[in-house]
Amino acid sequence: MEECIFCKIVQGEIPANKVFEDQDFVAFHDIHPAAPVHFLLIPKRHISSLYDVSEADQPLLGKMLWLIPQLAKEQGCVNGFRTIINTGRVGGQEVLHLHIHIIAGKDRLPTMI
Ligand code: C5P
Repeated sequence: MEECIFCKIVQGEIPANKVFEDQDFVAFHDIHPAAPVHFLLIPKRHISSLYDVSEADQPLLGKMLWLIPQLAKEQGCVNGFRTIINTGRVGGQEVLHLHIHIIAGKDRLPTMI
């Protein structure tokens, strides 16, 4: 996906402030944070949205969910956090590469991003 900005982050072609990386995922701070803690978890493989996952993606999706509390704890989310997945244009998704927003760090967290 040549034009995908998150694929470019995965490839190291554009910078990102990474908080985690392994063979399957990258997590990085959102460039326009909506809360004191706001990072994104993305699969390295290009999947356009949650709408586009296949049955074979179940292990990847399970690992993605499992990673969230681990990373949230590392980011100091002691009292909880919010996860948001925007899916498709109607769902408010601007970057068409599957990602989960993890936000925390203030009392009134946004319900939409
Ligand atoms: O869910 P949605 O697609 O609307 O969110 C995309 C998010 O990606 C935005 O919060 C935006 O600030 C973030 N972003 C980023 N780094 C980029 C481009 C977008 O953190 N280079």
